[in-house]
Amino acid sequence: MKQMVAAGMLLALNSAHAATQTVDCGRLLDVQKGAWRERVSIVIENGSIVSVGPMTQQAGNIDLSRHSCLPGLIDMHVHLTSETQPAVDAYRDRLAANPADMAYRSVKYAERTLMAGFTTVRDLGAADNLNISLKRAIAAGEVPGPRMFTAGKSLATTGGHADPTNNLSHFLSEKIGTPGPVEGVLNSPEEARQAVRTRYKDGADLIKVTATGGVLSQAASGHNSQYTEDELRAVVSTAKDYGFRVAAHAHGAEGMKRALRVGVDSIEHGTLMDDEVIALFKKGGGWYVPTISAGRYVADKAKDPNYYSALVRPKAAAIGPQLQATFGRAYKAGVKIAFGTDAGVFPHGENAREFGYMVEAGMTPIDAIRSATVNAATLLDQPKRLGAVDAGFAADIIAVEGDPLQDVKVLEQVKFVMKDGVVYKKP
Ligand SMILES: [Zn+2]
Repeated sequence: MKQMVAAGMLLALNSAHAATQTVDCGRLLDVQKGAWRERVSIVIENGSIVSVGPMTQQAGNIDLSRHSCLPGLIDMHVHLTSETQPAVDAYRDRLAANPADMAYRSVKYAERTLMAGFTTVRDLGAADNLNISLKRAIAAGEVPGPRMFTAGKSLATTGGHADPTNNLSHFLSEKIGTPGPVEGVLNSPEEARQAVRTRYKDGADLIKVTATGGVLSQAASGHNSQYTEDELRAVVSTAKDYGFRVAAHAHGAEGMKRALRVGVDSIEHGTLMDDEVIALFKKGGGWYVPTISAGRYVADKAKDPNYYSALVRPKAAAIGPQLQATFGRAYKAGVKIAFGTDAGVFPHGENAREFGYMVEAGMTPIDAIRSATVNAATLLDQPKRLGAVDAGFAADIIAVEGDPLQDVKVLEQVKFVMKDGVVYKKP
């Protein structure tokens, strides 16, 4: 029997999931068909769904007869072990915070994410492999949070986005030493292989590479290519040996082209994508994970002269505002889209705002919901376990009031959360 420990005010509302449970839903969204099924009962055993049928309304059932039920949501791009803060605080943390300080903070980020209806996330990079430890703690029921798939420490090149020693003083750089493949910094195909194999040894589930510069790193360019195609090819081919999928952060078009040509599974952000990139997506079947929320947030914060460092601020102002329009173009062109926000770049728990941004840019509400359910599950290689409410799937169920197909913003107010048959939030 699995017991949840208290974290803050939260206790799992039913600590055991061995017994059979039944959830009565006023209606349930069939995300594949894009249609509601009226008045259904979902029968759950040992954390999995065993059947979905007409509503029984027996005593003891969980009553969501006045609610709309959906599969638990999936965010394919989060950083659960950090959260945005002003540059002065971020620098202080770089000097003064221990890994344990960051780990304790991450507990509330994970809890907020789950309570917002996100029952699964893909964590795309953390220092000190904190995301791997957090994943283990959540899976063991030690802290409440979403099911995690993690990249461990993301891979960079020297000075690149995710080089942990960017822009430090000579004194500190000397003390820390030059990071190498073990720390996630590589400069050759050989080092790429060692970096991927180290992630395997560490317990990661997938690989994240930073194919171009990024906005929030302490480096000048937000979009330049930072890997040769040979280096990226070595990352992808080694990753395949270990069953890892590869997510590539990229803002510049050339970096995206290199990454897509060698067969990465997803491009994150994709800000400056051109028609050639769109053609490569469609030819190779790669997924696009847009993170509009992060673009909007950094563009807004760039207006505050004190929020980001002098290096970061102009990048945030230039790149952030472009993401939503890029997303609209990619969607219209038929690029496959999986939902991702880059939560951590903005406060955790606000992930669902992405739905509104997607719809604002021209996506239909049902496609936005598909991107965070069936599409995300496919990109995670979990198409028979996650992303739908059906027999054989994990019992990840959320409920809202109203109709998200009419107003997708109701997903920002999730009233019920079940993950693996454990209820975390009730109306
Ligand atoms: Zn990110």
